[in-house]
Amino acid sequence: MFNLIIFGPPGAGKGTQAIKISEKFGWKHISTGDILRAEVSHASPLGLKVKSIMDSGHLVSDELLIEIMESVFIKNKTAKGFVLDGFPRTLNQAQELDKMLLRHGEKLTLVLALIVDEEELVKRLLIRSHDHGRDDDTEDVIKNRLVQYHRHTEPLISYYKEKKLYQEVYGIGSIKDIFNQLCAAIKP
Ligand code: AMP
Repeated sequence: MFNLIIFGPPGAGKGTQAIKISEKFGWKHISTGDILRAEVSHASPLGLKVKSIMDSGHLVSDELLIEIMESVFIKNKTAKGFVLDGFPRTLNQAQELDKMLLRHGEKLTLVLALIVDEEELVKRLLIRSHDHGRDDDTEDVIKNRLVQYHRHTEPLISYYKEKKLYQEVYGIGSIKDIFNQLCAAIKP
């Protein structure tokens, strides 16, 4: 099983590239943001619980995310691979993911990070808010999402560097060129 993390700040293009990778290799794409947004749109008990947190750009609790991740993993145990998009986002989530994979006789294969400068990220997120009307893409929320990324998620870079799993791809350019660079780094 190829267990890939597409890593990077909000607006780096993780979702777009994760979908393309999962289609090319036949792997299961898991976007925790999409899973949570589906819960919110169905107004499920979980959705009601997380809506205000998501709308403010804060992170939903590690406990909830780990629970969601394990249940999706178990449901898709026959998959040839996973493309994780938006998870893990904290050191605790990363450690729990390692433990969870180990419990299922698996381990992480690769972490591919998309590198995009802050100015470009804000520009892209503002465009996305106009185009898709995402409640969590207003200017203040965008700033908070980036703060949360630097505070909680960026430290994962050294965690994965130490494990020799981390590789970077420059995330500005055409979707196709970036995709080709990601594919070259994957070599399954
Ligand atoms: P995303 O679409 O990945 O940017 O996620 C949208 C929002 O969902 C985030 O701003 C968080 O509020 C929440 N979220 C998604 N994934 C996670 C995660 N792994 N840990 C905590 N919160 C998350």
